[in-house]
Parts: sequence; C-alpha cells; structure tokens
Amino acid sequence: MITLALSKGRIFEETLPLLAAAGIEVTEDPETSRKLILPTTRADVRVVLVRATDVPTYVAHGGADIGVAGKDILIEYAGDNGGNDGLYQPLDLNIAKCRMSVAVRADFDYEAAVKQGSRIRVATKYTTIAREHFANKGVHVDLIKLYGSMELAPLTGLADAIVDLVSTGNTLKANNLVEVEQIMLISSRLVVNQAALKLNREPIRALIKAFESAIPK
Ligand code: AMP
Repeated sequence: MITLALSKGRIFEETLPLLAAAGIEVTEDPETSRKLILPTTRADVRVVLVRATDVPTYVAHGGADIGVAGKDILIEYAGDNGGNDGLYQPLDLNIAKCRMSVAVRADFDYEAAVKQGSRIRVATKYTTIAREHFANKGVHVDLIKLYGSMELAPLTGLADAIVDLVSTGNTLKANNLVEVEQIMLISSRLVVNQAALKLNREPIRALIKAFESAIPK
C-alpha cells in the first residue's frame, strides 16, 4: 500500500491531474466526505488528508509514504527540526503557486524604516523564512509569531509589517496593505519517505515518473 498525504483545498485539487497521469482517481470528494482516508481507483494507493503543516511530519515519520507540500511549509518544517527534514524531495510540481512577501500598511514608509536602520516589528507564521530574509538584508527585526490572520497585525498596531503568502493580492488590498518586497516564489513539491522509497522502490518510482510527466508548465 502506498499512502499519499495531501491537504484539502488548492493542493488537493491541483494534485488530482498529476494522479490522473498515473492512472489514479480519488473516489471520494474531501469537500463532502468526512473521511480522512480516501480510497482511490488503485487498490494499492490511498490518500490521507492532513493539515498542510502536518504533511512533512506524516511523510518524515512514515505515516505516509509520499506527500505534497508547499516550499513555505517545507522550509519552516526544516527550520523547526534543526535544518534537517530527512525528506527526499524529487520534484517541484509547479502547483499551488504563489509568493512569500513583505507587506505593510499603506501609510508605513518601509524603505525609510529600512534605511534608517530602525527595528521593524514583523508578524508572521513563517518565522524561519522571515528571519533568514531580514538577516540577509541586514535589517533588525522583532519577529512576532502568529498562526493566522496576519493581515490584522499592522492594522491593530501589533506589528509594522507582515510576511505572508500572496496569490492574487486581493487579501492585502482588502485590508489596505501593500506588498513592499517579494521574498521568494512558492510552489508545491513532492516529498518522499526515504525508507519507503527503499522498501517499495518500483511503485513509488513509477508514481514519481508519472507525476513528472504531468507537471504543469
Ligand atoms: P490572495 O488574496 O489571493 O493574495 O491570497 C492571499 C491569502 O491566501 C493569504 O491569506 C495567504 O495566506 C493565502 N494563500 C495564498 N496562496 C496560498 C498558497 N499557495 N497556499 C496557502 N495559502 C495561500
């Protein structure tokens, strides 16, 4: 049995065509089903639905053999684990694309604050990415860890800036925030448990190959 860990939403939806390329169809809809383990048209392949941040944990510890996770999630997971995630990452799947950016309130002069060398208060869920970004720029920041609704932090005075994922930019706009810096482009990657790859080499290799053939341009 090959267990594939996916998170609901964009990653699940955008992984379906890759599975189809491997001749695999998920036979239940996660939006209507309450099941956390979804069968597929292949008796030896099943999908487990987990939180996006839990995908690397499931795969690293063998709860799943393979998984799909955003680059953001993988960097933060490695950061929380001393820089070593123990995961084999054979493919950038080029799905669930977005960018990691710095955003501020429209009336906050970010450039001036950086030039003056002021300490900037930055709220984010992505502390590893933010820490590294500002350290590389030589900007002093106080990082404030949040678990959601980052946009609220500059609006309430909790922080001067946020580091968050941006896709269309609509969320920032709706909250009067402006993107002042792009840190990196984000897409989702295939991650594989190294022991599973050794034990179950052929079917996992075949799956990786099929996925590779269907990566969107
Ligand atoms: P948007 O309004 O399209 O710019 O989307 C921004 C919101 O969606 C923010 O709250 C982000 O945290 C979230 N978001 C955007 N893209 C992704 C992604 N690929 N994965 C997870 N969350 C995302």
